[in-house]
Formats: sequence, structure tokens, C-alpha cells
Amino acid sequence: MLRVATLFSGSSGNCTLLRTDNTAILVDCGKNCKAVCEALKIEGMDIADIDAIFVTHEHRDHISALDVLMRKRAIPIHVTSPSAPEVCKGRSAAENVEVHSGLIFEQRVGDITVSSFPLPHDSAAHVGYTVMSDDGDRAGVATDMGYATMEAFNRLSGCRQIVLEANHDIAMLKGGPYPYYLKQRILSRRGHLSNEECASLCRGLAEKGCEAFILSHLSAENNTPDLALTAVQECLYAGGLSPAVTVAKRSEVTDI
Ligand SMILES: [Zn+2]
Ligand SMILES: [Zn+2]
Repeated sequence: MLRVATLFSGSSGNCTLLRTDNTAILVDCGKNCKAVCEALKIEGMDIADIDAIFVTHEHRDHISALDVLMRKRAIPIHVTSPSAPEVCKGRSAAENVEVHSGLIFEQRVGDITVSSFPLPHDSAAHVGYTVMSDDGDRAGVATDMGYATMEAFNRLSGCRQIVLEANHDIAMLKGGPYPYYLKQRILSRRGHLSNEECASLCRGLAEKGCEAFILSHLSAENNTPDLALTAVQECLYAGGLSPAVTVAKRSEVTDI
């Protein structure tokens, strides 16, 4: 069985832990090495227990801890080729980095199989991941997406646990302090997923058997945990669905 937790989540840094009894991976590694190690400690783990790190894309909130980690540890890091230059830039231990030429790849780590799929976002490239354990349990991670593509929906279908982006409340964003160009960027099809879009995606994925969601990458300025949770739960209840829904904490570990 897979266990899923976000170590921290949001524009200040993202990191998700997925593990079985024998294998542990991180999806993204934002903030800094100390924050990652401290969060792992709360989960009863050490950075030495991490078998691999999978990078979704090269934005700082997803890779900022990698610089120190790459120098201190020989943890294999998996990244797609368009994101690789930024991830490896100026770093000495780039030989730990496995660069995947396509946005769709499959990687075996211990007793799990990790699969990537493309997501629309304003980075050089961006992927989500699904993880399957040898006992057939499945989990997924998909954040930083301008809209929910059919491919993302199909890839995440059948996952029992999913970490999904609920970035902003549209009214809060439109009426908020961000400059016009930034609002347009976030709302665009290469921006971020709103609560409403997340809610309808959750409903579809719950109909496909998802039992638990962690709503993640919430904007500090344009969303609140209550707004995200209410939007998703109302949509799920309207469909007669009742999976567990948790909001990822910005700076603390959030377990399903
Ligand atoms: Zn991003
Ligand atoms: Zn991000």
C-alpha cells in the first residue's frame, strides 16, 4: 500500500512524499534542504531513506532544495530534458541527475513504478506523476496546471489517493492585489488550476474510485483553505460522493 503526504505546499515550496514499507520517493523538492529533512523527521524518516526524487518542472518552488541536496547526497533525481538545464545549472553533482528525453516516461524504484504525463503550464516543460506499488495500489500528484486535460484525467483515473492543485478562488484573484498581467497568467491555460476546476476534476476522479484527495499549491493571496475545501466538498456531495478531502498545509506535513 502507498502512503502519501505533502511535506509543504504552495508558492513558497512544494514537496510530496510517496512511500511503501520498502521504498520512498519525493515529488519535487522546494524550500531548502533543512526544511525537507525536518519534515521527513516528522514522518519518522531521514533524507537517507529517500530512494529517488522526481521533478515536475523547473520553477523555483519545486527545485530550490536540490542544489544543496545534490552536493550532499547521491539521491537519483529524475527530470525531463526541457527542465534539466535549470535543475542542473551550476551544480557539481549533476551526474546524479537522470534526464528523460520525453515528457512521458516510466521509472522503476524499489517496489514502485513511477509514470509521468504532461501538464499545461508556463514552464519549459511540466509533468504530473502517478505511482503504482507492486501490490497494485495507485497514487497521483498533479499541480501547476492551467487546465485539467483529458490526458491528466485519464492518467489519474484509478488512483486511490491524489495530490491535486487548488490554486485560487477566481473572484479573490480577480479582485485581489496582483497586477493585471499576473492575474492573466494565473488564469490562462498555462497557469494554475482554480478551486472550481479542481472541484470538477475531483468529482470525476472520485467517480473513478479515488478515495482521498490532498488539495495543494494554494495561493496565499488568492485562496483560503476553507474556500478550497468548500468548493471541492460541495461539488463532491452534489454528485453523491464522499472521498476524504484534506487541504495541504503551507509549511507543515499533511498526511492523508
Ligand atoms: Zn510552476
Ligand atoms: Zn508551483
